[in-house]
Amino acid sequence: MLLLSYDLPQDMDSQALVIRIRIPDGGAVDWTVQPATQLLFRDILDVIGQVLPDATTTAFEYEDEDGDRITVRSDEEMKAMLSYYCSMVLEQQGSSPLVEPLQIYPRACKPPGKRNIHGLKVNTRGGTSNNCNSSISDSMSSNSLKKTSAELKKILANGQINELDIQNRDILGHGNGGTVYKAYHVSSAKILAVKVIPLDITVELQRQIMSELEILYKCDSQYIIGFYGAFFAENRISICTEFMDGGSLDVYRKIPEQVLGRISVAVLKGLTYLWSLKILHRDVKPSNMLVNTRGQVKLCDFGVSIQLVNSIAKTYVGTNAYMAPERIAGEQYGIHSDVWSLGISFMELALGRFPYPQSLPHLLCRIEAEGISVILMAPNWPRRVPFQILQCIVDEDSPVLPVGEFSESFVHFITQCMRKQPKERPAPEELMGHPFIVQFDDGNTEVVSMWVCRALEERRAQNSQE
Ligand code: ATP
Ligand code: MG
Repeated sequence: MLLLSYDLPQDMDSQALVIRIRIPDGGAVDWTVQPATQLLFRDILDVIGQVLPDATTTAFEYEDEDGDRITVRSDEEMKAMLSYYCSMVLEQQGSSPLVEPLQIYPRACKPPGKRNIHGLKVNTRGGTSNNCNSSISDSMSSNSLKKTSAELKKILANGQINELDIQNRDILGHGNGGTVYKAYHVSSAKILAVKVIPLDITVELQRQIMSELEILYKCDSQYIIGFYGAFFAENRISICTEFMDGGSLDVYRKIPEQVLGRISVAVLKGLTYLWSLKILHRDVKPSNMLVNTRGQVKLCDFGVSIQLVNSIAKTYVGTNAYMAPERIAGEQYGIHSDVWSLGISFMELALGRFPYPQSLPHLLCRIEAEGISVILMAPNWPRRVPFQILQCIVDEDSPVLPVGEFSESFVHFITQCMRKQPKERPAPEELMGHPFIVQFDDGNTEVVSMWVCRALEERRAQNSQE
């Protein structure tokens, strides 16, 4: 038995880790790693070297939830893989107490001579673990992981998706008018996010909404959430999208500038893509910016269906704290209003709190007198925005990030986005060319990935303590 150690989140750190090394001829070798020492990237390569002695292996891959292969070439990348694996295991544990091994695929190997080494269990079936009897875990471990997101998109976009195909599992969150579930799509064995919105509308209006949503099938950007389909059942619409295992940015605390910089680049590219299709987002805010453990950042909930937006607005209050002053004042809405919301969202994420009201004690007193208090400083912005805050956004000067705490280019970027006059805010091309964006447009998803993984680990540790 090889005794090595590895770095797992607290709630998993007493379990042995089984790494299944998949070899090119279809077989597999299981390697059990005991907890409580230190597992290095080099250690995994050493073991691969023992399994595949004729090959020179310098990297290996694992599959993410979409079945896409992620390469691991360093300790850092290995750490991200372990965090991703742990989050999958913790997710699966609800449905099955048995843990699927972590599957890795050695890269650039010559055809191996299969070899058993002392203490390793050789599995030549080339398939899935035989000790997993839950249907979800089973299918997730085999077929589903082979399917690429593109394939899945095709299957789901074929009009096949309906209520019977989907099993809603956990609630991911509630919003204005709807609930988002983590769901299991039976035939593709994929995890999806399904937003369910109760809507009492005519069949004609339902048809209009479905046709307006058609454009989502055409949206093809790595910065926009993947859309798999939508359907009406009874008086509810279900909108099925890609599941993001890091959730939305509103639940993260203060985000360090070098992470926020990379996130800003992705969000801006997502918005620029939508604007290029003549779609205004209309609801840019931290809860509509999603992240995953691969370090991807994607926008969701943009207003492609006017009928859907109107139908929801009839039932629920439509003002939110991220709206531009001109929009709160009922004036015309344009790209510039999305730019304001981008600025205020990033200001909040940098400060770790909503930036209004600036003259805090004075406003808090006023608001407390009306029975609304503490919520102003809570990281989760209340659904109903106190009128005073809206008035403050319209009447007062925009808040400015404290210079000294943040880089000059970041402060300038936010200040420009939050100019009170819409026309003075930068146009899309100016935003893309801004030094703050240029500086962080380096394609480094690792920074975001590590930060998401760490934050999720901390959250789990905190939950297990409570
Ligand atoms: P509002 O309804 O005012 O836009 P919201 O964005 O918080 O508010 P929802 O859009 O209903 O509300 O989303 C609720 C929560 O569900 C989000 O805050 C997010 O944490 C989670 N969520 C939404 N979509 C996904 C997804 N695709 N993957 C993972 N989590 C998601
Ligand atoms: Mg949302």
